[in-house]
Amino acid sequence: MITVKPVRAFNDNYIWLLQRAGDPRCVVVDPGDATPVLLALAEQGLELSTILLTHHHGDHTGGVRELLSHGPVPVYGPAGESIPEVTQPLREGDTVSLPELDLELGVFDVPGHTAGHIAYYGGGMLFCGDTLFAGGCGRLFEGTPAQMYQSLEKLASLPEDTRVYCAHEYTLANLRFALKVDPDNRRLQDRVSEVETLRAADECTLPSTIGEERQTNPFLRSGDSSVKQHAESWAGERFTDPVEVFAAVRAWKDAG
Ligand SMILES: [Zn+2]
Repeated sequence: MITVKPVRAFNDNYIWLLQRAGDPRCVVVDPGDATPVLLALAEQGLELSTILLTHHHGDHTGGVRELLSHGPVPVYGPAGESIPEVTQPLREGDTVSLPELDLELGVFDVPGHTAGHIAYYGGGMLFCGDTLFAGGCGRLFEGTPAQMYQSLEKLASLPEDTRVYCAHEYTLANLRFALKVDPDNRRLQDRVSEVETLRAADECTLPSTIGEERQTNPFLRSGDSSVKQHAESWAGERFTDPVEVFAAVRAWKDAG
């Protein structure tokens, strides 16, 4: 039995901490800050055994050096990005064996937010960094809309019950924007209420699931006729390709 707990960092980052019952070793994903991780390890009597990184941004990698100063552990990360602390560079199709969790994770290349961004999938869990968010997706800092669309389609094709562990608590703002794009979606309206209740209590809204994202995340719904229609009215033009719909929704969100 693997438990996955959020360690809060900065304003709205989550560093995911994975551990198996009865084993003091643990794995962290995207430790942008060492301090809250070290605190969590001390509080829970755990020792760090592996670091997983999804992309090079400082709020995902900034704590690695300090964590390694307490003892070397393998650092997995994208082969296509320059992160000096990475000891095990990964590309799509590679697997990561984590004996401390009795778990194997597969690797996907998911360019768009950054050029070399990777995601980890296994055991019914997806660690997708800043690619897919609950109700949203990452900004396109280093990739094209077509690349990000394809990356998101790859993740959307995973089993519906896959738990989605993204790296930020952006869910409420994302879903409020989603209502503009997809206002008649009943499941989305319900989800906004559920997330409002969680956030009012300062609770984490993650993980979501691939199935829930496919029903309510406008960035996975470019093929939906209502989403397409609303994107067209915002952009003032007609679209023939779902990538154009995706690009317009991303531009709409960036403009808002
Ligand atoms: Zn990022």
